[in-house]
Amino acid sequence: MSAQLANDVDAVAHAASLIRNSKRVIVLTGAGFSTPSGIPDFRSSGSGLWTRYLPMEVASLSTFRYDPEKFFAWLRPLASHMLSAVPNNAHLELARLERQGCLRAVITQNIDALHIRAGSQNVLEVHGTLNSLTCINCYHHFKSMGIIEPYIENGSLPHCPDCDHLLKPDIILFEEQLPNDIWRRAQQEAKSCDLMLIAGTSLEVMPSAGLPVRALENGARLVVVNKSATYVDMRADVHIDGDVSEIIPQISAEVLDG
Ligand SMILES: [Zn+2]
Repeated sequence: MSAQLANDVDAVAHAASLIRNSKRVIVLTGAGFSTPSGIPDFRSSGSGLWTRYLPMEVASLSTFRYDPEKFFAWLRPLASHMLSAVPNNAHLELARLERQGCLRAVITQNIDALHIRAGSQNVLEVHGTLNSLTCINCYHHFKSMGIIEPYIENGSLPHCPDCDHLLKPDIILFEEQLPNDIWRRAQQEAKSCDLMLIAGTSLEVMPSAGLPVRALENGARLVVVNKSATYVDMRADVHIDGDVSEIIPQISAEVLDG
């Protein structure tokens, strides 16, 4: 066994024992949690699909308002990827941990709804979801399924079945506030947890990136599983540099079956 592998095995066992001995475990996930499901990180440069546009500029409320054609053209390949993706092992294991009473909540920065599709119940989608849309005129709310397919297939913009105005996907764009109620609950979970598992996020997008500090201030332990460094690694009890779809199932097996 190589030294690196031995370290990982130790780290997985340590992470699992911390989780087993905690009462209020929560998870914070980001783009790296969905890359094993084939969804590129649309914020990172060089991810091919998105280099034509600057996300900050096109994924913004003003582009949606003043140039919806451009906004929807940008979103289309991303939405197509997300709606055809399936939850990976890491998503499924988090749902299993929750069912077994070992996990209270999943806070996610992802808009792909894969945690919900994997069966997690208490999911706080702080950046919204592609799973539904809201009419900009009558505020009626619609599930994407059944409405979004023609847009994905031929680019025709989604319109309200009730009043025919444009529908806005329920995702949080640049220049927009996070959804108030969900963000408040996420902060509450962060303040009251005794262990936060940070998985598949480099903690670069505020304000979600600040949640681990809320947890630390209240004495919680941190476990980090990510392919690159995060600013809280030094303050984490365990830091595992790896792919969530490999590491999370190992941790979960140790917690539940170990
Ligand atoms: Zn409407």
